[in-house]
Formats: sequence, C-alpha cells, structure tokens
Amino acid sequence: MIADDLTNLYQDLIIDHNKRPRNFRELPPPRKSSDGYNPLCGDHLTVYLQINDEGQITDLTFKGDGCAISVASASLMTEALKGKSIEQARALFTAVHNMLTESKTNSQDIEMLGKLAALQGVRDYPSRVKCATLAWHTMQAALAGESNEVTTE
Ligand code: ZN
Repeated sequence: MIADDLTNLYQDLIIDHNKRPRNFRELPPPRKSSDGYNPLCGDHLTVYLQINDEGQITDLTFKGDGCAISVASASLMTEALKGKSIEQARALFTAVHNMLTESKTNSQDIEMLGKLAALQGVRDYPSRVKCATLAWHTMQAALAGESNEVTTE
C-alpha cells in the first residue's frame, strides 16, 4: 500500500468512528468510571469500565462531547481494549502515547496498535495530541479507581 492510500484509509477510519462511535453508552453500576476534560479544545468524555475477578476488561464504554479526534480515539480505544487484561491495557496506552509523541513508531508497536495506528497522523498537529490521548488518560484514571476529573493540563 502506498503512503497516500494508508493516509486515506486512516482518515476514513477516524471519520467513521466519529460519525458512529462504538460503545457509546453508559454502563450501569457496579462499574468504574472517570471524567476527562481537555480545556484546550473543550472535549469532555466519561469512560466506564467493568473488570472481572481475573483482571480482564469485560466491558468498556464512553459518553460525552468532543471533536472528531477525541471521539474517534475513544471509540477505537473501547474496541481495542475490550477483553484485554489491565496489563495489556496499560501496554497499549504506552504504545499510543509513544506513537503520538515520538517522531517514529517502532514496528512492534505498530503491530500491537492495529487500527489505533489510524491516530498516527495526529502527532503532526501538536495541539490535537491531547484530544487523542484524553480518552486514554481517562481510562487509566478509571482503572486506578480515581473518580476525580482528569484534565489534560
Ligand atoms: Zn479535541
């Protein structure tokens, strides 16, 4: 695949996940949840998650308002992390964070990222990186059981 095709494919994925966000609903209690806010852009998301006794994420959803990148990133995240262990979720968070903040992504990370690699282009727009990481920081806070609002500042 040539680079332009890949860029188009990634853009289509982001547009699709923004238009039809996956797992866009509240989870009933008992569940963990956290609010995330990105004041630079006005993105506001709540992430809900359920973990079983084996430490596996059995359900992960979100609600909120935000720009296309924040919503698409949250939607892609819920798909990527459902069924994963807490350790796998943390590893994926690190891979996403590195992809968005470092100039090159190593091939091992690309493989682990799968569809999440669609967010790669965001790193060329530093002001939007926080939009893409908001859901992930909020997920981390929910995992840690922090109920206070997370901000990207
Ligand atoms: Zn945003």
